[in-house]
Amino acid sequence: MVMRRRDFLKAVTAGVLLSGIDPFSFVSAGQLLPPSRRLSQPVLDNHIKDYLHKMENFDHPHPGDVILEQKQLPLLNACVSKLKRLQDMAGHGNFNILSFDDGLSIARRYSEVGEFTKKELEFLEWIFYSDSSIYGFWGEKPIDSITTSINKREVVNISDSGNYLYKGTPREIYETLRKYVGDQLYLTSGIRGVVKQFLLFLDKANNNRGNLSLASRSLAPPGYSYHGVADFDVGQRGYGALNFTGKFTTTEVFKKLEDLHFVTIRYPRNNLKGVRFEPWHIKVFPEA
Ligand SMILES: [Zn+2]
Repeated sequence: MVMRRRDFLKAVTAGVLLSGIDPFSFVSAGQLLPPSRRLSQPVLDNHIKDYLHKMENFDHPHPGDVILEQKQLPLLNACVSKLKRLQDMAGHGNFNILSFDDGLSIARRYSEVGEFTKKELEFLEWIFYSDSSIYGFWGEKPIDSITTSINKREVVNISDSGNYLYKGTPREIYETLRKYVGDQLYLTSGIRGVVKQFLLFLDKANNNRGNLSLASRSLAPPGYSYHGVADFDVGQRGYGALNFTGKFTTTEVFKKLEDLHFVTIRYPRNNLKGVRFEPWHIKVFPEA
């Protein structure tokens, strides 16, 4: 395993970057390292162990996790409820590729969803434009604007899956995988626009007392997901939700994928992005 010391120092001292960004702010669940503290080798080794332990146990809170302030939790909950109503209204398939602006206009038009309040919009923008490394997500941000939309002419609905893929390379890779692995391989998650990623990320945070670090260990924050630009997830047919667990590595589909040298996964074991091991997530652009 290659550990790049600089990245690691950045990761383990992330807590010091916390600051009150008006009108919202984060708090840390644990003690922070003072910025000036030099990490000796034994200290660094311990931090690496801590980091790996945290990624193995991604779904649990850990000391140093960055969480929303208590007073923001009702706002978080309100946004999640509204996004869920929006998903019901738009339909799950459409919701995957819905843009932020279209989402707002549906919410405004249908009282069953309800218009987003100014405070909710400010909160969503603050989440989108905050630097995710503050709470320990080190991935790149392929989508830099909250209003980025998906051109329907550039995507294709994959039958029986309720998911979309971009035409061109992503669809070609998917079809090649099906050819080599067989029909047992299917698309479990394809394109996810900004709104869909908002719902996934915030719902996870909402179910975990506003813990953004915990949420980001298994779900990229909106803007930071490669599902928005090309990547997709595959699973073994009939394996259901287990396709998104470590058990996926025991399936025939995964074993066959492993033998295909052109397949790369986005978040390998012991990655330095602050993300759990995701053997199901296919990286479409190797250099992206
Ligand atoms: Zn994925």
